[in-house]
Amino acid sequence: MRIAVAGFQHETNTFAPVKADFEAFRVAKSFPPLVRGPAMLAAVEDKKLPSAGIIATLRAAGAEVVPLLWCMATPSAHVTEDAYERIVGEILAMIAAAGPLDGICLELHGAMVGEHVDDGEGELLKRLRRQVGHQMPITVALDLHANVTAGMVAEADYLDLYQYYPHTDMAETGVRAAKVLIDIIRTGRRPAKAFRQLDFIIPVNSGCTDFGPSREVYRELMPAIERETPGLVGLSFACGFPQADIADVGPSVIAYAATETAAATAADRLAREAASRESRYLPEFFPAAEAVAKALAIARGASRPVVIADTQDNPGGGGPGDTTGVLRALLAAGARGAVIGAIIDAESADKAHAVGEGGSAVFAIGGKRYPGDRPVETRARVLRARSDGWTALGGMKGGMPVDLGRTALLETEAEGVLVVLASRVAQTMESSIFRHLVLVPERLPIIVVKSSVHFRADFAPMAEAILVAKAPGPVTIDLSELPYAKARKGLRLMPRAG
Ligand SMILES: [Zn+2]
Repeated sequence: MRIAVAGFQHETNTFAPVKADFEAFRVAKSFPPLVRGPAMLAAVEDKKLPSAGIIATLRAAGAEVVPLLWCMATPSAHVTEDAYERIVGEILAMIAAAGPLDGICLELHGAMVGEHVDDGEGELLKRLRRQVGHQMPITVALDLHANVTAGMVAEADYLDLYQYYPHTDMAETGVRAAKVLIDIIRTGRRPAKAFRQLDFIIPVNSGCTDFGPSREVYRELMPAIERETPGLVGLSFACGFPQADIADVGPSVIAYAATETAAATAADRLAREAASRESRYLPEFFPAAEAVAKALAIARGASRPVVIADTQDNPGGGGPGDTTGVLRALLAAGARGAVIGAIIDAESADKAHAVGEGGSAVFAIGGKRYPGDRPVETRARVLRARSDGWTALGGMKGGMPVDLGRTALLETEAEGVLVVLASRVAQTMESSIFRHLVLVPERLPIIVVKSSVHFRADFAPMAEAILVAKAPGPVTIDLSELPYAKARKGLRLMPRAG
């Protein structure tokens, strides 16, 4: 068996300010840079990525892996037409040049929007089908936040999505996609499919599988349906990625089984029972000042940190990572010893390096890239300034190299608030950036992270409490505030209250 493997991941927030160009895919940040051919194997192997699971599974089955290309950009606004066409063009050209293949296994996100195409993955799969024909087995590992379309379901023989948010099972999802591909090649039989879309959007914060309705759906309901549906091959629940103004935004269910009836029965049951939890998908959040006041009150009697998620500026959802709403609230409250990070501000990081450790200066922190925001001008001391990369920790990214360019730790002179600066956009999904700057997160009173949910994998075990703050940023938690123009008719932008 010769199997081609490729990865092309982007989660597109069509309401965010900055687009993903080719350069955004080419460079490494908190994941590997764009890699081609055999270099792809070393870049993804032993990482917690779908391709790692795909490659290991194919090899264990005795297949020859034909590595094509792997790349991922930090979530942002649209993928530029140039980047999309170059990368898709390369993948298709590599497949054409790969010689005889028995199958194709892809790692995609499922919520990619190009400047010129709303269904990034559906279009890629359509072009791929046109090139390789309908006999070629194609399976795909997708993110739990995929906005799955009928086109994607039609063009691929099998889709399989992460089942954990924080995404601690990316490699396992690759394993499942590869196993089904091998089965299709060996038996010559493709599973029957069923696809259902729900009629309300699930806010990202409510997709967390650690608690609430999402925990029930993924940890109880799906295993029950799997046990009770004879001939089921695969069952996925997509939470959808809300901040995308496309017709197919929102949650969906995909089932694969030996028969059409079994697939339809499983999909209908999962869609119906998830929809019955609609009101419980409404998330709890507080305005920034209220979140900080609550955190200070909790921190007074606690020996462990209170963690605040600055969810609307989550770079993992397309936030610039430099908005100042929660920083201003910390300063106004005089939250001495609290830390906020990482604020993505290369200019201020450069300045900190120029000033040097121990020096102090007036900084214009963040507030440079989100419309309506402005920098926080304040005198601060430079406690640390580093230029080296490090290795990520925690259940999601553990072992992956991180390189955010120049980083620095500031302390505001008047309030004693700590500010972590980085130069390249990345979500603060684990504590290693704080440790890199020689902080001990466990001993801090308040930690503000630029993340919606992923931070929970590493921070929840050390946190006294977790609060979600609403401050300016494009990763809108109240989706009824967003000017959707293309969302399909009848779709509710927020879950309906009970
Ligand atoms: Zn995701």
